[in-house]
Amino acid sequence: MSISERTIELEKLLRKLEGFFGFPGELELVWWPHIKNIEVADNMKKTGMHSAADGQTRGKITIYGPDYEKAKETLIHEFIECHLLAGFVEPYVHLVNKLFEAHELNAYKSREQLVRILTRFILREFKENGG
Ligand SMILES: [Zn+2]
Repeated sequence: MSISERTIELEKLLRKLEGFFGFPGELELVWWPHIKNIEVADNMKKTGMHSAADGQTRGKITIYGPDYEKAKETLIHEFIECHLLAGFVEPYVHLVNKLFEAHELNAYKSREQLVRILTRFILREFKENGG
């Protein structure tokens, strides 16, 4: 697959996610396969944040790096976070944060873990259903 074909596939995946979760056409996707922001990546390692380079700004998901499979995973990850953090499911986020607090877990790490589990689940689900 060429890069433009893969970009179209990523776009399709985003629309599929939006359809699946009921947020049609809300997000724009940008994939920069040739850009690797090493400086930002280093910074991410230091801070433990994953999404300074790969991430969302309002209404837009930006993914860096050439690895297509990783790009798919990042897209799902960021999609979940975008809607999780955008306040669409505020009571749910509040509840989850309370649970994390109750267990004295780091809320950021726990949320990341939850997002990773959901990402893997969605990837598998979509694969089984011809995604
Ligand atoms: Zn994340």
